[in-house]
Amino acid sequence: MDRIGQSLKTNVKIMKTRVTKYAVYGVIIAFGAIVTATLLNCYLQFGEITSVGILQVQKTNPTLWILDAMPFIFAFWGQYVSSIMAYEATTMVLDQTNELRTQTAALEYQAMHDATHDQLTDLPNRVLLRDRLEQAIHVALREDRKLALFILDLDRFKEVNDTLGHYSGDRLLKHVAMRLRGVMRGSDTLSRLGGDEFAILLPMIKESSDVHIVLKKIQNAFLSPFMLESLKLEVQASIGIAVFPDHGRDVDTIMQRADVAMYAAKQNQQGSTIYSTGLDKHSPHRLTLMGELRQAIDNDELLLHFQPKININSNIVCGVEALVRWQHPQHGFMPPDEFIPLAERTGLIKPLSIWVLKHAIEQAVTWHRAHLKLGIAINLSPSTLLDTELPDVITGTLASCSLPPHYITFEITEGSIIKDPERALEILTRLDKMGIRISIDDFGTGYSSLAYLKRMPASEVKIDKSFVLDMLVDENDAAIVQATIDLAHNLGLKVVAEGVENKETAERLKELGCDILQGYYFSKPLAADKFLAWLSALSPN
Ligand code: C2E
Ligand code: CA
Ligand code: CA
Repeated sequence: MDRIGQSLKTNVKIMKTRVTKYAVYGVIIAFGAIVTATLLNCYLQFGEITSVGILQVQKTNPTLWILDAMPFIFAFWGQYVSSIMAYEATTMVLDQTNELRTQTAALEYQAMHDATHDQLTDLPNRVLLRDRLEQAIHVALREDRKLALFILDLDRFKEVNDTLGHYSGDRLLKHVAMRLRGVMRGSDTLSRLGGDEFAILLPMIKESSDVHIVLKKIQNAFLSPFMLESLKLEVQASIGIAVFPDHGRDVDTIMQRADVAMYAAKQNQQGSTIYSTGLDKHSPHRLTLMGELRQAIDNDELLLHFQPKININSNIVCGVEALVRWQHPQHGFMPPDEFIPLAERTGLIKPLSIWVLKHAIEQAVTWHRAHLKLGIAINLSPSTLLDTELPDVITGTLASCSLPPHYITFEITEGSIIKDPERALEILTRLDKMGIRISIDDFGTGYSSLAYLKRMPASEVKIDKSFVLDMLVDENDAAIVQATIDLAHNLGLKVVAEGVENKETAERLKELGCDILQGYYFSKPLAADKFLAWLSALSPN
């Protein structure tokens, strides 16, 4: 018997002795009563107490006989009651112990489940995935088979989270988990590694080429849009694949290589990539990049390029857009699309935005002093716009220079407005009151509605280059451009088209009534001195 059983036995024993003790008291009292009653009877009957008298009353008095039986009754009753009580107590304690045991087991199971599963989707987490991967590697080794690990990361999930809120983001993740589960076999493991990252373990494949079949199934799962409330969301994912033993022979290597392949898929926008050694060179720099970006901001290693905005009617350069550049000491030129999303994720976006703001305004002031009255457009990332300190930072920067505020335009994406419309509206209104212009950037790519736009104190809409680039050959794009121009004009807004790469597009946009053009056709973004050279070549006198 185990320890609980042993202690139960002891408890029962103690309880029995306790009850028996009271029975013994009863017996003693009964004996006392017999002796007293016998002596009293003897004295009353014979006038003295003698052994003959005691024997006589004991023989003849029936009440003493009843009294004589009492110690036996007490002894019997004590034993009986103690046995029943001990028995009942034992079963009670046993029942409670069993219940406690069941509860402990359930709690242990829950704790174990929580430690190995993701709370939101209830899928296995990274810990359990690693465990299963390890088991699968053992089996694959023993049976001379292959296995595959897919790592899948949703594209632009942050945008969904930012624009529609975390609740919708969470719901989307649950939908994705459900769809993925639907296309997998019971023996495969679908796991959520965190954020918008999932992993799929195929513990047994015959050929490396089998991964293509599964890949197709996964990609098909993303073909139809996801419904969130009344919104239809097109969601895509980047998938990286590593195969055992081709790409690694242990858990860490397989996981790391699938991850490297996933980042490569994200960068080359091909949707999926199977690991190959050539991909390794991309991954380590991502990790150290953020530390280096902080240094670059502190040490002024960033620079701004300026791309002209041309007024379509007067053919005059009416302003420039400031675009940040990072010339990395080892990796060379880093495109902003690569480091700005990372900066957003790590909080470095704030010092970065302040750096851009300060240097862009400084540059505009320098030009104004040289009588070059150019407007300057500055990109504001979503989190920067919603930073309540922003208006103060701007007021501080403007106070120290003589640039009239209407020369400054902030380009903000639709996403940053929808993320928190009330706060965005409040901050934009403050900026508007200061005389600063607001431009809705990348228009058409977000999920915004006209209702939001109408409330925003914007003065300009910027059609995203993805529509402008192909508008001459793609009817849909042309229709979107046309509709945006009409819509913006109806709301009293100016329209800028970015990504104008040729004369034909520029002419078509003029016909459609666009106000301002920007793109490689006029000039690529240039460093300040090169921009000045370009400008003076435009009007030599
Ligand atoms: P964006 O705001 O949409 O900027 C326009 C992008 O289009 C720029 O890319 C520009 O160089 C490129 N572009 C301009 N004309 C053409 C053209 O004719 N054809 C093509 N194919 N592309 C053209 P860039 O400089 O690589 O910037 C990419 C994005 O990075 C920007 O997109 C913006 O969202 C972000 N970004 C750049 N600088 C900053 C910054 O200082 N702060 C923030 N928050 N974001 C920035
Ligand atoms: Ca922009
Ligand atoms: Ca754009």
